[in-house]
Amino acid sequence: MAARQCIVGGNWKMNTNRASASALAKDVGEACSPSANGVAVVVFPPFPYLMEVAETLVDTGIEVGAQDVFAEPEGAFTGEVSVSMLQDCGCSWVLCGHSERRHVMGEPDDLVNRKVLAALAGGLKVILCVGETQAQREAGQTDAINDAQLRAGLNTVDATGIENIVIAYEPVWAIGTGLTATPEDAQSAHAAIRATLADVFSESAADGVRIQYGGSMKPGNAAELLSQPDIDGGLIGGAALKAADFAQIVAAGA
Ligand code: PEP
Repeated sequence: MAARQCIVGGNWKMNTNRASASALAKDVGEACSPSANGVAVVVFPPFPYLMEVAETLVDTGIEVGAQDVFAEPEGAFTGEVSVSMLQDCGCSWVLCGHSERRHVMGEPDDLVNRKVLAALAGGLKVILCVGETQAQREAGQTDAINDAQLRAGLNTVDATGIENIVIAYEPVWAIGTGLTATPEDAQSAHAAIRATLADVFSESAADGVRIQYGGSMKPGNAAELLSQPDIDGGLIGGAALKAADFAQIVAAGA
């Protein structure tokens, strides 16, 4: 089995202001030392604060990503942000298909796929988020939903592309709710996701892909989740807004 480097992401969502985003970045930079513990760390601030956060984190080893991107390179797309704009602002990562974009903004699978392809083509690394709703879980559809979202989101991604993608399994019912999948349930979903990746790409490609768990991960539950064989990191929302909590999760992944 490939040795997969643990990766922890902090999704700040639509939180912070200019001053608090800078302060949080500074605190995260001081509290997390990825070079020391071998965990890859990336934070996803709101668009307006990307440049300042990237400048604050320069030389810390912590990378910066955007919470979304548009699929076209430029033009009449009011309100949207392109891959090259994000790179200009110091981003090396982007989230695609976060559940809030899928379920609050109504983003469909084919648009998620276009964003993934545009990001990869432009040289950004991607965290592609998938996950089932409460109703889908109760109907026993968890693996089928993840499988469908993966196949659609990864449509026409090639063998090089998948090397620059991390998958985040984020059950919608666990995001921001305080509810967390049990380590066993999360592991089962992650193993099924890896099986889909093996079917779409190859066993060895799937073996190398990192799959994060997201959904109310916090210092108290991170170690147990991250100790599962197919859980290779976490995508953190609420707990990423406190540098000390975020750093504890990063340390749990070391
Ligand atoms: C997220 O936004 O990706 C997330 C997992 O949020 P939370 O940790 O707050 O559930």
